[in-house]
Amino acid sequence: MSSQLLSLVEQQRPIPSGLPLVSIVVPFFNESKSIEACHNALVKVLDSLQTHCEIVYIDDGSSDDSWRQVCSFRSQKHQISRIKLSRNFGKEAALSAGLKASNGRAAIPFDADLQDPPEYIPKMIDAWQAGADIVEMKRSERLGESTMKKTSAKLFYKILNLLSDIELSENVGDFRLLDKRVVDVINSLPERSRYMKGLLSWPGFKRKTLLFNRNPRQTGESKWNYFALLHLAFEGITSFSIKPLRLATIAGVLTSFIALSYALITLFKTLIYGDPVAGYPTLEITMLFLGGVQLLCIGLLGEYIGRLFIESKQRPLYVIMDKQLTSPCHQTANK
Ligand code: UDP
Ligand code: MG
Repeated sequence: MSSQLLSLVEQQRPIPSGLPLVSIVVPFFNESKSIEACHNALVKVLDSLQTHCEIVYIDDGSSDDSWRQVCSFRSQKHQISRIKLSRNFGKEAALSAGLKASNGRAAIPFDADLQDPPEYIPKMIDAWQAGADIVEMKRSERLGESTMKKTSAKLFYKILNLLSDIELSENVGDFRLLDKRVVDVINSLPERSRYMKGLLSWPGFKRKTLLFNRNPRQTGESKWNYFALLHLAFEGITSFSIKPLRLATIAGVLTSFIALSYALITLFKTLIYGDPVAGYPTLEITMLFLGGVQLLCIGLLGEYIGRLFIESKQRPLYVIMDKQLTSPCHQTANK
């Protein structure tokens, strides 16, 4: 770990006064049908809090009029930051951009489709003020999701927790409260493979879990299809574990051992009993099996090498095209 990161983890820095209490970080991509309802719901909840907060909107390359809508949002009490990325970089990159731009003493990633109920925000703040550094929101039910999606999510968490060294809580999404110290650590992580659920859990710190019911999406469509989810699953596993490579080595050792034992048995039977070697089907099955295992292991190596290749290019995670800040007194400053 770099010395800069260590010093972040070890010292609790004094929090300058005047900072917004929390930053709600909202990445969105073509959410014109729900972004206004999202803003109104957030402002309503934040208005009920004692002090001023911040909402950070990140337009992840929308082609509809969501950005125009977001530019018109005002609040009497809260600061509103808007960032427009130059194209669609994906939710993970948009969320990273939002966390980097957030100024609050804590941050809460929030989906623009209102699947995460804003009414829970005060409870999350209470748990944080009672001492937790991360307040995880665990879905007690996954409403509106197919049995197939629920089962595959369960399986994915099982595999990932088995393989990786960090502990990922099942059914906890990006909707969680992160203390500024945690946000600073996440912002200092340099990797381009941003499996956010993993990165948000990586820093550790004191965690508290609250249960909630996640709403089904009201308007528009989920941006995830099974292919994208599979990609995310690979990203999650290969970013947080090298155990699959070790498993490939173990599989190689086991296969060689089985092959050697089988060779010895065949030799023994032929020499002692004079059995004719009826080899053709066995040969074919063995070759296909070994071919399959070898291709799988090469593919696995390729996944890791591909990630090394992407990391080595050191390209930025996202490109900011426009950035606007509206302070509570309604003045707009373009930066
Ligand atoms: N999103 C984004 N960039 C993308 C895809 C999604 O910023 O490329 C935003 C989306 O607008 C929403 C949030 O990420 O605010 C969650 O997306 P979605 O509802 O599609 O995901 P799901 O709830 O199905 O996991
Ligand atoms: Mg959603």
